[in-house]
Amino acid sequence: MNSVAVISLGCPKNLVDSENMLGLIKEGNFIITDNYRKAEVIIINTCGFIESAKEESINTILEMTEHKITGECKVLIVVGCLVQKYQKELKQEIPEIDALLGTNNYHEIIEAINKTLNKEKVIKVNAKHTQQYFELPRHLVTSKHYAYLRIAEGCDNRCSYCTIPEIRGPFRSRPMENIINEAKYLVSLGVKEIILVAQDTTQYGKDIYQELRLASLLQELCKISEVRWIRLLYCYPNYFSDNLIEVIKDEPKICKYIDLPLQHVDNSILKRMGRNITQEEIKSLIKKLRDNIPEIIIRSTFIVGFPGESQENFHNLLEFLQEVKLDRVGAFSYSQEDNTPAGKMANQITNNSKIKRLNKLMELQYQILLEKHRQYIGKEITVQVDGIADDNNDLWVCRSTGEAPEIDPVILVFTQDRLIPGQLLTVKITHLQDYDLIGEIYCELT
Ligand code: SF4
Repeated sequence: MNSVAVISLGCPKNLVDSENMLGLIKEGNFIITDNYRKAEVIIINTCGFIESAKEESINTILEMTEHKITGECKVLIVVGCLVQKYQKELKQEIPEIDALLGTNNYHEIIEAINKTLNKEKVIKVNAKHTQQYFELPRHLVTSKHYAYLRIAEGCDNRCSYCTIPEIRGPFRSRPMENIINEAKYLVSLGVKEIILVAQDTTQYGKDIYQELRLASLLQELCKISEVRWIRLLYCYPNYFSDNLIEVIKDEPKICKYIDLPLQHVDNSILKRMGRNITQEEIKSLIKKLRDNIPEIIIRSTFIVGFPGESQENFHNLLEFLQEVKLDRVGAFSYSQEDNTPAGKMANQITNNSKIKRLNKLMELQYQILLEKHRQYIGKEITVQVDGIADDNNDLWVCRSTGEAPEIDPVILVFTQDRLIPGQLLTVKITHLQDYDLIGEIYCELT
């Protein structure tokens, strides 16, 4: 049996694609290894969203071609977003690649492995995105107590800077029963925390049910008794219904945590980004969320250096952050992408200015985070154990309902006890360490 390693780059949605391919590979009589140095087949699931992500994907491909020359690797397969957009360039410039699969062709991975092991070259990239949603088996690579659950694919919002609609196609919801069945499958594997992902989770259902159905989907998921936490990522502010707020408020299993990418808040920039929302509407949504769910944790992401972003536009964003004080913030420098309206706009901002603005925004947000985290000192909070820290056997990484995996601060707990990933604890916060909180075990819950 040949050994196969999958390297998954990019976002949690890409990770789900990698886990689906691994599900097929496991059923396909291959040995799954996470040591690509020893693998006979290396599969790279790429990201093509912005410049830095593309660079990381290309560097990883080039690094793996080395293993084809010096190592065990017989076959190198490259899949996903970068392929969907640049298959011609990849084929021409990196001939060591044996197979290229697009974002609609993950389900053809076994055929691609068998053909390339047979020394055939394979290219499967559907230019046209299918309406069909492929229900594939799943092999989890996240820690076994939490898993991402994709509820839809593609996007119709067409923000002027974004290549996702071109790479992933139009918005396609998964039938609700398929999502519920997969959630039941995940909890049968021991998953406690289910994290809903899509390009835009808030529009779930508009295509196949002709109405927004995220609220009722959440209520159905809450009926699964083994589910402990349900977390919502990638909410688009324009489609945040009162009904959805009500369900998040009333259902104890739903984390009082919202990931709400806003990208900017200056009205002229929002207009040219094609976000179809104003700063006033954003502020009233945030006020409504906080009025209805006072303990809500709001995360957002912003782009700095959008074409034509003046100092005044940028300061408008900083003033908003100072005033609204979001709990979690990520930010990126604008990436000029070809085939996007923004990519053709005049007044592109210099990289130097972008970096200065990014640092200024993150410095401001860091002070806001410290201010908020200081209020936790002396408090007891319920946390879920994620696992042991890489560099210290007595340091455990935990999260409360207020932190998503990989992207948010964590709660660090020092103990010589052997904790179990997925275990719930009550922890007393004692002090801060950079972005993270430090706590001591108050009692073990499960
Ligand atoms: S909502 Fe906008 S930024 Fe997000 S995936 Fe869709 S087009 Fe891209």
